[in-house]
Amino acid sequence: MSWRTKANRDWLAGLPEVVPGHPLARHTSFNIGGPAEFFVEIGRTELLQEIVEECGRRGIPRLLLGAGTNLLVADAGVEGLVIRCATREHRVTGNRVSAAAGLKMLRLARICADADLTGFEWAIGVPGTVGGAVYQDAGCWGVEMREVLVEARGYVPGQGPVSWDLAQLQLGYRTSALREGRLHGCLVTSAVIELRPGDGARSRAQMAAWTEQRTRTQPIKTKNCGSVFKNPAGDSAGRLVEAAGLKGARQGAAQVSEQHANFIINTGGATAADVAALIERIQTAVRERFGIELETEVEMVGRWG
Ligand SMILES: Cc1cc2nc3c(=O)[nH]c(=O)nc-3n(C[C@H](O)[C@H](O)[C@H](O)COP(=O)(O)OP(=O)(O)OC[C@H]3O[C@@H](n4cnc5c(N)ncnc54)[C@H](O)[C@@H]3O)c2cc1C
Repeated sequence: MSWRTKANRDWLAGLPEVVPGHPLARHTSFNIGGPAEFFVEIGRTELLQEIVEECGRRGIPRLLLGAGTNLLVADAGVEGLVIRCATREHRVTGNRVSAAAGLKMLRLARICADADLTGFEWAIGVPGTVGGAVYQDAGCWGVEMREVLVEARGYVPGQGPVSWDLAQLQLGYRTSALREGRLHGCLVTSAVIELRPGDGARSRAQMAAWTEQRTRTQPIKTKNCGSVFKNPAGDSAGRLVEAAGLKGARQGAAQVSEQHANFIINTGGATAADVAALIERIQTAVRERFGIELETEVEMVGRWG
């Protein structure tokens, strides 16, 4: 039976500031994506949990959205409810910092520097949220989320609020039990990281230097999703794409970056289908040329048909 009953539609329509048919392109760094059937932005953890629970109980499909910096949303949009996690609280206690899932990583990096804590400067390179970073063990400049994470708090539909340690989260290179394991479908509500006493000025200088270096070497000011492919063991996806002759390749308005071949850019008006076709073309070329299967780091969501 379809989830689209009158009772479910009435419940969805009654959610605070819910928007039907809301274009998701404006919530993704690619600037691509069709409409969410229903869209809400939620800034309170308790309400997030209630909505996730109720969707499960009612059988309503839902997608959690952080900053939309690792998503390729289908042109036909997303069925059911898209819930943007907009919780932003944080607390510094000694060397530990607790941050809500919706807080941006780069904002948290500055908060840590202002508290004279070191070890989180790398997060200045991750434009996503804390929840999205836990979900796939984000990392930059040789440091990964799992190296600073102590625990994550979350919500398991049908079970309630929980706390997960590292063993339960199973974080690994751009993956976790949330992305591909037994915690799939759970909500991350907050994370606790542990850092070392440092010097805020030095941390800020490091972050500025890394940002400058990245701006020079990667197209981070364009509409993109960061690295499209995971690096295969012992190699770099960008090197393989370039060696396969696809640097600068175009599909519609999507283009492999001339600056860094592991980035696909929306040059203006690209569709999700353009990007997906380019991804497939690259995977085929790299497979045929080098016998290597490039796995996507970006996640494709929505109605792909
Ligand atoms: C210019 C640029 C540079 C980038 N550089 C890096 C980099 O250096 N290193 C790196 O690792 N990544 C990088 N990324 C990719 C991206 O920022 C990270 O993958 C980030 O962790 C995604 O977080 P998000 O909030 O944007 O998640 P979204 O893209 O919104 O969502 C991604 C997935 O996480 C899930 N999710 C989000 N929030 C929650 C939650 N609270 N609970 C459960 N699941 C949730 C979503 O459902 C979805 O499945 C870059 C992206 C861009 C655009």
